[in-house]
Amino acid sequence: MNIDSPATQIEGPDIVSCSGCSELVESRTRIVNGTGPESADVLFVGEAPGANEDEQGEPFVGRSGKILDETLESVGMPRNEVRITNIVRCRPPENRDPHKAEIKNCLPHLDNEIDHIDPNVIVPLGAIPAKTIIADEIDKITEAAGMKYRTEFGRDQTIAIASVHPAATIYNRDLRPKFEKTLEEVANYTD
Ligand code: URA
Repeated sequence: MNIDSPATQIEGPDIVSCSGCSELVESRTRIVNGTGPESADVLFVGEAPGANEDEQGEPFVGRSGKILDETLESVGMPRNEVRITNIVRCRPPENRDPHKAEIKNCLPHLDNEIDHIDPNVIVPLGAIPAKTIIADEIDKITEAAGMKYRTEFGRDQTIAIASVHPAATIYNRDLRPKFEKTLEEVANYTD
C-alpha cells in the first residue's frame, strides 16, 4: 500500500482513515492509534487491538492492558509516561493473528510513529511484534525476552528489547517474573 494514496489519511503519528485491508475494514469499529506522549522515551508495540481496544479506541485497555499497567507502575514507569501502539491498528476478525499482508500494509504507519516519537527503546510485546520489529528469525519469544537488539526502525538503529506479551502471563503465571524483569530493564532507558 502506498501511504500517500488517498485511502490513507495521516496526521502526525495517527492515521485518520484507511481502507488498506478489506477484511480489517469490515471487522473494526475504528482505527486504534497509539497513545501516550509523543516525547516518550519508551515505545511499547503490541500485536493488534482486541475487542476492548476496538470499543474504546485505545491500545491495551483490556485484561492484558491491566497487567501491563500494573507492571509499568511497579517498575516506576507509569503508563502515562510511555507510548503504546500496535503493529496493526485495526481489530482482526475473531481476534485472529494479523495476516502478513496486513502487517506489511500497516508497517509504514509504525515506521512513521517511531520517527515522530524517536524513542530511546522499542519494546515489542509478543512474538509477532518481535518478529516484525527485530528479526523474523526470532522463534521463541520466551527465549528472546529480555534480550537487547538493534532494530532497523527509527533513527540510528534504535535499541529494541524483546518481551513476552502480557496476555501470555495470564495463561502461564511462570512468565510473570520474566515480564517484570524485562520491564525493569526497559525502565533504565528513561531519562
Ligand atoms: N493485545 C495487543 O497486542 N494489543 C492490544 O492493544 C491489546 C491486546
